[in-house]
Amino acid sequence: MTLNTKIEQVNFVDLKAQYWSIAPEIDAAIADVVHNTAFILGKGVSDFENEFARYCQAQYAIGVDSGTSALELALRAFGIGKGDEVITAANTFIATALAISYTGAQPVLVDIDPDTYNIDPNLLADAITDKTKAIIPVHLYGQPADMDPILEIARSKGLIVIEDACQAHGAKYKGKRVGGLGDAAAFSFYPAKNLGAFGDAGMMVTNNEEIAEHIRMLRDVGQREKYHHEVKGYNHRLDNMQAAVLGVKLNYLDEWNSARRQHAQQYNDLFGGTPVITPSTPDYAEPVYHLYIARVEDRDGLQEFLSERKVFTGIHYPIPIHLQQAYKELGYQRGDFPITERYADQIVSLPMYAELTPEMIDYTVNSILNYS
Ligand SMILES: *Cc1c(COP(=O)(O)O)cnc(C)c1O
Repeated sequence: MTLNTKIEQVNFVDLKAQYWSIAPEIDAAIADVVHNTAFILGKGVSDFENEFARYCQAQYAIGVDSGTSALELALRAFGIGKGDEVITAANTFIATALAISYTGAQPVLVDIDPDTYNIDPNLLADAITDKTKAIIPVHLYGQPADMDPILEIARSKGLIVIEDACQAHGAKYKGKRVGGLGDAAAFSFYPAKNLGAFGDAGMMVTNNEEIAEHIRMLRDVGQREKYHHEVKGYNHRLDNMQAAVLGVKLNYLDEWNSARRQHAQQYNDLFGGTPVITPSTPDYAEPVYHLYIARVEDRDGLQEFLSERKVFTGIHYPIPIHLQQAYKELGYQRGDFPITERYADQIVSLPMYAELTPEMIDYTVNSILNYS
């Protein structure tokens, strides 16, 4: 196979390309916030909350300052804390576990399904104890977790289900958008996410009015009415500046997600019949490819080889949570989550963003197939 000589570099993500494609609109939205000096809550935030709730086909959305805060406040709003256990996937970003820890509850990890890389619903029953209060399925890489069996076991045991949708804005499960599938959902607008702010930002989505009200209060120093503090709340508000940027970008999200799906299809087609293992998509899932994950032998060597060819990649995630120094206290050992551990050594996240071109994907795939 010959390398395409026109391509000089393939970035892993390209936030500049996205910004320049809509710069005048974004700049105007930011200028508007500045000119009105309306920086904290109010109409700017509530307009975006309403649009985002509608986008998720859910009733309420509450803007917060990060995806981690959204998870933490959701758990707190359901009264989860010290002495409780919360189950989540062994293969996720550390923030899912951290949010559980912040409340005082203990994260309990469950291994992933080898085909979907998401939490394996068949392993839930064994992980549930008298202390279990909630399950946090993670729609990792933008592919929805298999929600029906998760919800079924949760309902039968009286457990709360909080979707970690931080990588899955716009993904669908059985035709329905993620965000309204469980009791609550957390979204991150970290800049590199499918819908990204110009800084940190997040959103809690729910169909439960009482929980929505509670989170609105928790995120804003525990007040519903100014200076009437009903609980010891937090400063976890969403900035108006971020809401303005996100409001503009939300109008492009479907277009960007469909470009990501096209890129994923091109990768899948080009990797067909090669030793590279590509993601499988169950019938229930319409993923949004926050990340495109391939599995290869000699991942570290490949990554090095690719970076010499200026193809930049990532690993999500190289060290599973149960093997992190920060989570030694949980007492897990190497071998406890064999699929997660094996995949951590094989997975590589390939360049993926809407503005990627077919030539860049060709170049990336050719480079990978040239490595031996
Ligand atoms: C990004 C992310 C988070 C945390 O979001 P922040 O906005 O960075 O706090 C949580 N869970 C998953 C799966 C994520 O990818």
